[in-house]
Amino acid sequence: MDVVLEAKPILERFQLDGRTALVTGGGQGIGRAFAHALGEAGASVAVVDLVKERAEEVAQELSEKGITSLAIKADVTQKDDCDTMIQTIMDAWGTLTIGVNNAGIGDWMAAEEVTEENWDKINNVNLKGVFLCAQAEAKVMMPAGYGKIINTASMSAWIANYPQKQVVYNTTKAGVLHMTRTLASEWADRGIRVNSISPGYTRTKLVEDLLATPVGQEMAPKWLSMTPAGKMAEVTDLQGAVVFLAAQVSDFMTGSDMIIDGGYCTW
Ligand code: NAD
Repeated sequence: MDVVLEAKPILERFQLDGRTALVTGGGQGIGRAFAHALGEAGASVAVVDLVKERAEEVAQELSEKGITSLAIKADVTQKDDCDTMIQTIMDAWGTLTIGVNNAGIGDWMAAEEVTEENWDKINNVNLKGVFLCAQAEAKVMMPAGYGKIINTASMSAWIANYPQKQVVYNTTKAGVLHMTRTLASEWADRGIRVNSISPGYTRTKLVEDLLATPVGQEMAPKWLSMTPAGKMAEVTDLQGAVVFLAAQVSDFMTGSDMIIDGGYCTW
């Protein structure tokens, strides 16, 4: 006789009913798709963005689907904003189970041209911002004894992109992976799971705008030729991973990264 399967049926373990989530950078692109995915799976979702109107627009989209939502303006590089963001959610819902630290920025620049200002700006959002949010989230998850933190990294954490040059972005994203592993090890015994998602090239508005420029038109065929799947990700291709990492089904997983890149990192 094999061991008894004691868990709930598999699809029930993907459901997020009764859970509360926040998504930083949720006002557009990948964060917006994450917010929709978590909401569709049953969670109440706080859409957090530096640009208030974007957060409000996505929160409205969620409400129209019958999803309980909040719009919060916050700059993830500011500790006070991160603390206020958590307080707003606690005041509204009394709990935070899922924190998706997704806000990130990038720039193309040869390493020898990178300025200190450029270094600080990208590091502040991509590394400091992720840490400040994770810390603020963990402080309310610890008393509850349960929480799911999901950081958006990038395949750029694993490879140096080509042909564009982006040492600062790549370095910050590699930092997100190691921050994820370290926080996972520190907080595992408090019931908090910390994992990351590493998308490959993803067709967001910003990428589309870029591809409309002469530089972008030169880059796109190179990117696609280096991607075994022969295409970029759609934001919807990333939604399953965020629900999986947010849900009970992945409770034994922590400190891991899910690469979703059409096979780019395999070559
Ligand atoms: P995007 O630029 O379309 O959206 C990012 C959102 O974050 C914007 O709404 C912006 O207002 C917000 N934001 C920026 N700085 C902020 C701050 N300081 N505080 C709060 N919000 C802030 O980006 P995207 O393409 O959706 O990327 C989302 C994440 O995915 C980023 O971390 C990015 O590095 C990562 N990523 C993107 C791709 C891609 O190809 N698009 C690939 C791999 C990883």
